[in-house]
Amino acid sequence: MAYIIGVDIGTTSVKTILYDNNGKIIESANLGYPLYQDTPDMAEEDPDDIFSAVTNGINTVMRKSKIAANSLKGVSFSCAMHSLILLDKNKKALTRAITWADNRSAKYAEQLKQSDLGLKLYKNTGTPIHAMTPLSKIIWLKNEKSELYKETKYFIGIKEYIINKLFGVLKVDYSIANATGLFNIFNLDWDKDALALTGLKKENLPELVDTTYKLKGLKKEYAKVIGINPKTPFIIGASDGPLANLGVNAIEPGVLAITIGTSGAVRMVSKKPRIDPKGRVFCYYLAKDMWVIGGPVNNGGIIFKWIRDQLCLPEKVTAEQMHINPYSLLTTIASKVPAGSDGLLFHPFLGGERAPIWDSNARGSYFGLNQMHTRAHMIRAALEGIVFNLYTVSLALEEVLGTPIKIQATGGFVNSNLTRQMLSDIFEQNVTIPDSVEGTALGAATLGMYSLGMINELSDVKNFVHSNNTYTPIKENVDVYRELSSIYIRLSRQLMTEYDQIAAFQRKHSRIR
Ligand code: ADP
Repeated sequence: MAYIIGVDIGTTSVKTILYDNNGKIIESANLGYPLYQDTPDMAEEDPDDIFSAVTNGINTVMRKSKIAANSLKGVSFSCAMHSLILLDKNKKALTRAITWADNRSAKYAEQLKQSDLGLKLYKNTGTPIHAMTPLSKIIWLKNEKSELYKETKYFIGIKEYIINKLFGVLKVDYSIANATGLFNIFNLDWDKDALALTGLKKENLPELVDTTYKLKGLKKEYAKVIGINPKTPFIIGASDGPLANLGVNAIEPGVLAITIGTSGAVRMVSKKPRIDPKGRVFCYYLAKDMWVIGGPVNNGGIIFKWIRDQLCLPEKVTAEQMHINPYSLLTTIASKVPAGSDGLLFHPFLGGERAPIWDSNARGSYFGLNQMHTRAHMIRAALEGIVFNLYTVSLALEEVLGTPIKIQATGGFVNSNLTRQMLSDIFEQNVTIPDSVEGTALGAATLGMYSLGMINELSDVKNFVHSNNTYTPIKENVDVYRELSSIYIRLSRQLMTEYDQIAAFQRKHSRIR
């Protein structure tokens, strides 16, 4: 038997999974690390913590599985997008990893977004102009931390940091590069306008390689620590969003992947890079002739968590006393209310929002409250609001790629029958829930197998992804949601003009920032 390891470097943890060549999980490890938030808009991680989680993760699955070192054919990486680390001329880190969630460049991102250059950059890089991107972060550093900026020789991300430590080379795959906002999706090279704007030259960035690129020459000291043969090739892999599509077998045109964990995303694959004239969706590289187009939302399961903790504390306590999962109790309560929550609507923008409105000042609201509404209505309306929001992202995506034909859904939010059926009813599509929850690591492993010739086509992933769980739309619910979603969208447009005002008020008067 031959084996491969998929390493998924996430925002909160590294998931390391050992698969056999049939895509079966043999062993796994999940190692977390802290997020540093000295100020509310900061979100950094120590790259050496992440490096340790990667090496310990591989070591753990090798040790636990007891497979022979020679039967491990490769290690392949997925990584969270948009991180930035500054290195000096000796490749020493000058900063921690500034993650996608870091918002300190918001002012510069907003200015750029309002300019013609902003739109041109989006159209050439496929990356929405936003504080999450290294492009915005570099502009912020150049303006506000100029000493640090001047001292910096290399601008890299977390995956490149790890690869440099293991192999002593600075290389970045097209997929991670794509998400920096500095990469031209039409010529697969660093974008000249983005370089000019940030003041960077190509030599300040890692060398670009395809996502199937094999790294060889693992440093002996690390091979020993990790417990693998130093000749084992590492496949550079891609970023987590595109690999999630691969790992749930959503790579055929028309198959929509929906992930709803803490945050969420909807994505679909296209043979060619495509952009949205209105700048609402991203276009990220997965592999040759495979581009993943979609939109990320901030407000996924985190909203349900807020409902659990702020609105439903009594239910949470009861659930804990009864030793049942509070989310399960809340979905049971919500399922007593009919689809459409008797006309109560919820806009879930508690954390500002990325796609489809791209407005960090957006705020949440209940609309349509009357005296008949109960807490159960408020729970259900919040769940429906999360799904309506994702549905509006898919409408933007439809304008670029056409109507989807089916949906593959993953993430903690689709752990209940209620939310699965809600997705099917609001999207008016069949929704399939794949058995394996770790789609991203499987995506990395599949890309690695393809690079190593262990499978012939990326579409062979269909042999690895199984499911017996498909939900079909219920006609009465569809009718209700169709009527309600048009109110949701109209209202959303009207509220947009007020978000700046209320956010400014909150910044000025609120004790809670
Ligand atoms: P992460 O993005 O951190 O990997 P998960 O995929 O584990 O997150 O999703 C966590 C979220 O899933 C929680 O915030 C919660 O909102 C949601 N969730 C957990 N259990 C359920 C459930 N039974 N029904 C609906 N949503 C759930």
